[in-house]
Amino acid sequence: MAITAPKGTRDILPEESYKWVYLEEEIRCLCSLYRYEEIRTPMFEKTELFVRGVGQETDIVQKEMYTFEHRDKESFSLKPEGTAAVVRAYGENKLYTLPQPVKLYYLTPCFRAERPQKGRYRQFHQFGIEVLGTKSAGIDAEVIALAARLFKQLKIENIKLYINSVGCGKCREAYYHTLKTFLATKLDVLCEDCQKRYEKNPMRVLDCKEETCQAALQEAPYMVDYLCEECEEHFAEVKENLQLMQVAYEINPRIVRGLDYYEKTAFEFVTEDIGAQGTICGGGRYDGLSELIGGPKTPGIGFGMGLERLLMLVGDKLPAKKAALQIYIASMGRQAEKKAQEMVEQLRAQGICAEKDFMQRSLKSQMKYADKLGAENVLILGDEEINAGTAEIKNMQTGEQCRVSIKTTEQFVADYKAGVKKA
Ligand code: ATP
Ligand code: MG
Repeated sequence: MAITAPKGTRDILPEESYKWVYLEEEIRCLCSLYRYEEIRTPMFEKTELFVRGVGQETDIVQKEMYTFEHRDKESFSLKPEGTAAVVRAYGENKLYTLPQPVKLYYLTPCFRAERPQKGRYRQFHQFGIEVLGTKSAGIDAEVIALAARLFKQLKIENIKLYINSVGCGKCREAYYHTLKTFLATKLDVLCEDCQKRYEKNPMRVLDCKEETCQAALQEAPYMVDYLCEECEEHFAEVKENLQLMQVAYEINPRIVRGLDYYEKTAFEFVTEDIGAQGTICGGGRYDGLSELIGGPKTPGIGFGMGLERLLMLVGDKLPAKKAALQIYIASMGRQAEKKAQEMVEQLRAQGICAEKDFMQRSLKSQMKYADKLGAENVLILGDEEINAGTAEIKNMQTGEQCRVSIKTTEQFVADYKAGVKKA
């Protein structure tokens, strides 16, 4: 039996890959406009980084990591998300010695052993940004505004921004007490996962996707109503800055994010246009993360955006692949084919996209093939033309044909660049 790709992975074929390139270019351009610079971290890290940085009790660490041991000694895991590694790299490479804040972005594959379904893969791709070194609420708003700007540029309309504050260690303690008292009265109807969350991370019960849990939570107390003075003020400033930047948002007290290291600001961009997996982008502030993984005390904020989901949303709206083939050289006969082989390379050296036949096609088939490739011009070479030093060039759009000099490829290129001339 033929070997197939692993479940939950997919090949990105040429008919789709050009869309990825387009999206990635849009993203890179936007990031440089906002002065974010690219960071590339390894595809795998010490497992401990994710256990501490993502959280022992999260679904990611509990069930979704690809973990392997190197010669039975050290444990490594493929990166399930981008933030922990960026924060590690910030400390390890002493990026705190640079002028702050440090504004970074990444485009990376991520790996999670989840049940594959529409919009959910085992290898998927994230665009993410992280800003390290400032607690300023203005940066929270900038990070959110950058994502909103990308959606705007891609002409995505049906997407909502939900924001929330998940407080800090200080205010969460009192809130957890209130929340747990409430949840205790609902324990018998909560799902198995939520019963565990009740003990270890009660706030995560709020974003459980089970309908019965959501129904039981109608009257639940929310963190936003229990914020300490500092968190309250920060949240107010984030909202004010979003308004200044004209970013529309809705407060959703149930946005808590799946990762343990979030503090204060948490947000999601959600759409109903691509089915059940509608969260395109999720992020928040993680002021405690760096210390948690043994780095310097450093505040930070960022987001992760799923590129497969983004592409599902915009795929059809992206510009069609442009025909870039400028000259196809059709040849008849051995000598002409050799000349074609020489000329395509010389044309490419001059930055002109050129192609020839490699399948011993007849002249008629080569003309059809050139048309299929979307060639703008076809240069027709036969042994006679080579001897005469001139050949026919056909404009495939207008059908117009004229004779051009091919005595030297340099001359031909110069003529071509000046607009094809009659010989
Ligand atoms: P979900 O609720 O869909 O499981 P999540 O909370 O696990 O998402 P994050 O860890 O915040 O997601 O990752 C950020 C983004 O990465 C998500 O909003 C989504 O767009 C994308 N993403 C996460 N997991 C997958 C996956 N298995 N396949 C494709 N995209 C994914
Ligand atoms: Mg998930």
